[in-house]
Amino acid sequence: MSVFTDDVINFTSVLKMAYNFLSGREYLKKQKFRERKKLISVVLPFSDLSFAAGAVPVFPIRMESFNINQYLVALNSATSILGWGLTTKLLGFIKQFDALKIFDTILDEVLKSINVKYNEMYDLGVENGISSDFCYGIKGLYGMHVSKGKNVDANMNFAIRCSAFNKYYESLRKLVPRQIWVDIPSRNIGNALELLTENITNAISDLEDITGNHVADNSLNKQFRIGNQVKRYYKTIIYEISAEDFYPCNPATFAEILSLLGISFQDYNSNAQRYLENIANLVKEMRERIRKGIGMDVSKMPRILLTPVFGGWEPETQEFLYEQGARTLYADWEILGLLEEIPVSKGTNPVEEYARYLLNAATEGIGCDNNTLTDSYQRIAKKMNVDGIIFNQLFGCHSISNCYPMLREKVRKKLDIPITSIIFNKIGENVEQIKTRLGAYMEIVKPT
Ligand code: SF4
Repeated sequence: MSVFTDDVINFTSVLKMAYNFLSGREYLKKQKFRERKKLISVVLPFSDLSFAAGAVPVFPIRMESFNINQYLVALNSATSILGWGLTTKLLGFIKQFDALKIFDTILDEVLKSINVKYNEMYDLGVENGISSDFCYGIKGLYGMHVSKGKNVDANMNFAIRCSAFNKYYESLRKLVPRQIWVDIPSRNIGNALELLTENITNAISDLEDITGNHVADNSLNKQFRIGNQVKRYYKTIIYEISAEDFYPCNPATFAEILSLLGISFQDYNSNAQRYLENIANLVKEMRERIRKGIGMDVSKMPRILLTPVFGGWEPETQEFLYEQGARTLYADWEILGLLEEIPVSKGTNPVEEYARYLLNAATEGIGCDNNTLTDSYQRIAKKMNVDGIIFNQLFGCHSISNCYPMLREKVRKKLDIPITSIIFNKIGENVEQIKTRLGAYMEIVKPT
């Protein structure tokens, strides 16, 4: 059952972001063949260097064909001709005649089609020999490269704490011949910063070689400035708007917006400036709606942090939690330290600042050990002042998922909020078990 309400229709920014995600294939074709740009495959939010080099980063699922609702196509044209304000008004007007309730299901359709595609990519990865021991995320990413890896000019690989992920990167060599590596040291000791700065410099040289463009400090700083603004808006949604007693939409829609942000933040829908405009408008639209009293009183609904979800999770969880009277929040990129800003002031060395940012994320956010990682979960849960945590344990994950027992102990001792875990293998599997477990959990997290 869809829980999406007609309130989404006036969220022009969300619909536009969804359109930009789904229409990636056409956009990227234009960039590659008409603009002669190079496409760089990125996973996780590591697209800055590609943008600075004048290449086009792409989270590979966006090269797939998606069915795009014709209203989204029309909406995209309308915003170019009429601008944001008028389009929003126009949509509100058209909505009155939407007897078939087509608008009500647009965002629902978008997210469902992304989820179906994720499962297709998972199946493709498995059919093409990716080890069954890997987690959902890795199987899906491998499938994405089997499907469309031939379209990209290179893969950008940022080696992180997970050895399975680093093995997956290795396995991509046979699908995409050109690989660009940035090894991030897991500890900030000795000359780690120097080494990482050198690794980034080498990656930039590779990008220069591929694109034929020189990457100047100005190009890097320009991209970091855009990224910093995006991160500021993202944090505003996570910390300020999510903490309001009155939401600009129903909390299930709010959770869907957070999940769309989480997925699209990885490559900024391949256009950083456009993404910045969308997220800036999103925050503006959210605030306006709250000010006008359009949305929902959520003051009695507990706020639950569901994490980690970047490797895959069961989207029905948030609908179920909503039916149980809770709000679901996602904040993976913040927990992993990837929403930190990169200093761009005069006199800074952008390559070194980027190295510092990555090293900080690797050592303080993602963490090279479970103690650091569990501290990150705990720190952000406290900062967000959530009422509970649901930890998503991925089948096949031997890195992040196994920190749950340690996290549970810390949360019980230091935060004193209820925490539980759910097991995820593939979208659509295990839904009933998840509901049973969360039903019991929600008995403890009583509405406030
Ligand atoms: S979910 Fe676990 S196994 Fe999969 S990439 Fe993340 S840390 Fe590695």
